Formats: sequence, structure tokens, C-alpha cells
Amino acid sequence: MHQILSVNNLSKQYGKIHALNNVSFNVPQGCVYGILGPNGSGKTTTLGIILDILKANTGNFLWFENNPQNYKTKIGSLLETPNFYHYLSAVNNLKITQAISGRGNENDIDEVLETVNLSQRKNSKFSTYSLGMKQRLAIAAALLGNPDVLVLDEPTNGLDPVGIAEIRELIKKLAQQGKTIIMASHLLDEVEKVCTHVAILKKGNLLVNGNVNEVLANEDIVEVSATNKKTLIQILNTMSGFTKLIEEQHTIQLFYPQGTAQLDAINKYCFNNGVTLNLLTQKKKSLETKFFELTNN
Ligand code: ATP
Repeated sequence: MHQILSVNNLSKQYGKIHALNNVSFNVPQGCVYGILGPNGSGKTTTLGIILDILKANTGNFLWFENNPQNYKTKIGSLLETPNFYHYLSAVNNLKITQAISGRGNENDIDEVLETVNLSQRKNSKFSTYSLGMKQRLAIAAALLGNPDVLVLDEPTNGLDPVGIAEIRELIKKLAQQGKTIIMASHLLDEVEKVCTHVAILKKGNLLVNGNVNEVLANEDIVEVSATNKKTLIQILNTMSGFTKLIEEQHTIQLFYPQGTAQLDAINKYCFNNGVTLNLLTQKKKSLETKFFELTNN
């Protein structure tokens, strides 16, 4: 699988502020790539540089390694909410966007409105749209000309849970159609639900990046419980193999190096030592746990 984008050692300073320090990552074709980090971590700066709106101080990037010519025509982007005319319909707004950007042709307009699920309201004035619909119209504008890649900055900002879910479904649908999506977000939950790949930024430094499952899976977590929790903990403390034991409100979590947790062995050990488990399950670490681990030390 070839890279849609390679980013190499990007650094950017605004005066004394180091917005990005030596950031490198690769975006494979067809993935949903989340750039995740708290406010001020450098997400928007990264997107600005790869879209050629900002200049990096050092480093470089390459779009479409196999075919880099005219790369800009193959990228649709949404960095800030476009200025749509409030008194015009979605269709007429997109006609104007299309005319200004020169992307695609008028026939695309119905298609992109269908993609973002606004066909039924395509002739309504923009001013009558909900925030979620306005955001979907902005994504429709980015889809004019059928780009291979979409770059979105905080696509769900300010939306209610229903609006967020609609954008999430839309992103999944676009990914299924084969588009590569690069999105910045400070919402862990959003990234975890929709992204296949993630890069985590903190104060301009890239902490970790790669396939979401790989980023998350460096430990196995086994959750156990028994009616008598105190005895269970005593027994578990005599068992070998795990690296950490955490007592939760109702359960105990055991951490193992990746691939080494054996549920049947744990079950047998506890049973042989007089404790019957009423819960025994293996969990994946959540991105949230990982994120706080990474950003707190
Ligand atoms: P947010 O989600 O708040 O937009 P972000 O992760 O997108 O955050 P950036 O906007 O890239 O972060 O900002 C990274 C750092 O660079 C911050 O410390 C920010 O204050 C600073 N910064 C960004 N743009 C400028 C600018 N034009 N002039 C000075 N400093 C800037």
C-alpha cells in the first residue's frame, strides 16, 4: 500500500513559540488518519503546512508519492467554516463555491449534496439549516471535484451528539468509498470511533503514531472479579506474569505484556486457590487511557 502523504521532520516556530518540533508521519492510502492533541498542540499548524497555507521552518512533505503532479486538485479541505450566503440555498451556495474554486462541474453539486445527506433540503436557504447541516454543507463543498483526500480540522466542533454522529457516519461512508481522510481533533472518543490511524501531538511534539490498534496494543488488560475481592487480590498477588494490578471499584485489572495474558491459566490458578471468579475478560486499552498516560508524563 502506498503513502498518500509523507511528512518529514516538520518544525514551525511563531516567534518564540515552537508550534511543531520535528514531526514526521506517513498517511497510507484509504485510511482515516486522526491528528489528536489538546488545544495548542499544533494540529491546525500541521494541517496548514500540508495544505501549503503555512510555511514550515524546516522539514518537508510529499503528497501522492506515485503521482505528485497537480496534487492540490486531488485534495479537498475544510480548515475553517466557509462563508456561505445565508439567503441562498445549498445548491446556489455550492454553485458559487464551484465557480470560485473551479473544482468539478455543476453536475457534481447534486451528487455531493446526496453524499452528505442534504438532498431533501437542497433548495432551502442556508439560514434555515441546523449547525450540523451547515457543517455537512461545508464538507459537501470540500467534496466538489471528487478529491481523493479530504483534510478536515475539527469537523465536529460545536455540534450536538446527533450532529457529531452524522459527521462520523459521513466520514465512515467516504472512507468506504475509498477516500483517504486526514482529520484533526481534540476528541479522543471521536478519533477512537472513526480513525484507523492516529498521531498524538503534545506541545508540538509527536508522542506516538500509527495504526490505532498498534498504538493501543502494547499491553493486554485482563479484568477479573470475585465475590470476595480482598481474598481475590491476595491470591492474585501470589500469581506471576502480570506487570501491574489496579483495583477498580468493582473489578481488578491485571496488565500483561502484549500477547502474554492467558485467561484459562488465570481462571485455573484462582480456582485452585479457592477463589471462584465471577468475571474474567480481556480488554483493549482505550485510547483515552493511552492518551492520558502519554500526555501526563
Ligand atoms: P487548537 O485546537 O486550539 O486550534 P491546535 O492543536 O490546532 O490547537 P495550533 O493552532 O496549531 O494548535 O497552535 C500551536 C501553537 O502555536 C499554539 O501555542 C498556538 O498558540 C501557536 N500559534 C498558532 N498560530 C499562531 C500564530 N499565527 N502566531 C503565533 N502563535 C501561533
